[in-house]
Amino acid sequence: MASPLFFSHPACLEHETTPGHPERPARITAIERALAERGWLGYEVRQAPPASREALVAVHSAEYVDAVRSMSDCGGGAFDQETVLSAGSYRAAAHAAGAACAMVEALLAGGAARVGFCATRPPGHHARTETTSGFCLFNHVAVASRHALDSLEARRVFIFDWDLHHGDGTNDIFRTTDAVLFASIHQSGVFPGTGALHDAGARAGEGYSINLPVPKGSDEDAWVSLLEHIVIPAAEEFHPDLVLISAGYDAHREDEQGGCELETSSFAEMARHMRALGERTGAPVGAVLEGGYALDALAASVCATMEALAGDQSPNSVAPDFLTSRAASYVGHHWNL
Ligand SMILES: [Zn+2]
Repeated sequence: MASPLFFSHPACLEHETTPGHPERPARITAIERALAERGWLGYEVRQAPPASREALVAVHSAEYVDAVRSMSDCGGGAFDQETVLSAGSYRAAAHAAGAACAMVEALLAGGAARVGFCATRPPGHHARTETTSGFCLFNHVAVASRHALDSLEARRVFIFDWDLHHGDGTNDIFRTTDAVLFASIHQSGVFPGTGALHDAGARAGEGYSINLPVPKGSDEDAWVSLLEHIVIPAAEEFHPDLVLISAGYDAHREDEQGGCELETSSFAEMARHMRALGERTGAPVGAVLEGGYALDALAASVCATMEALAGDQSPNSVAPDFLTSRAASYVGHHWNL
């Protein structure tokens, strides 16, 4: 079997934010330093190409793509209070989206690598068709999913978003389609305020959005129980051709952006569940970096994820005790798969 694949590009360091901004180039530097110390965990390291304009405008409006480009070309600016651009931002975001596209191309090529990871920035899951927010410019997971569906003969893509924040951009982009099953576990009551339990999609996509908000303080038992008992069974029934993870690390207990209590090992456990899902359904599994701002925790958790994705250890089953509370109240909800 071919080596697992790791994608990044130096252009992702050229997206500069304001001093003190949590979404900073040091995030990628920390991840790559940790990986280099560990021999890249056996992953084949590839340079990410930029996404084609065609791939970007399949998700975003041409006007929006041009606006991001021209603001970068003019030296930068601010789309909103939190989402700032520098001269290198368009290139960074284009390579980040291109990494995700190149990853799915490689994963769907057949007989090659079965897992991949993109360590790129800025993050993408808050970016919508014509707007951005929350540090994101282009929605890399959405662009890669669209590319897989339109150009690579994938018929069904499953996206699991384990970032602390709801992946509102991704959810919105695929809200009305049954070709993408979107599932997200996120802390309730924080930015962006979307992703309520009752938001299950619309029109042809009714039942294909699974939003699982969890309260502040939720730990591995809560997150993994929801993944194991709600997300995974739904995804298995969906029979995806491709599994993507919006891999944010701000639900780590050391991350000050949120109030959840995941450990570094929690991300390994979630990754093992995703790898096992991929094995059962025959779908390759690719992860794309989203948030995660505590550098040591971020780097260690990315390593733990990549190790678990490439490994052969089976996931543990969460004690069914937890099902007496939150997950039990979510089981049998109105996801019409
Ligand atoms: Zn986040």
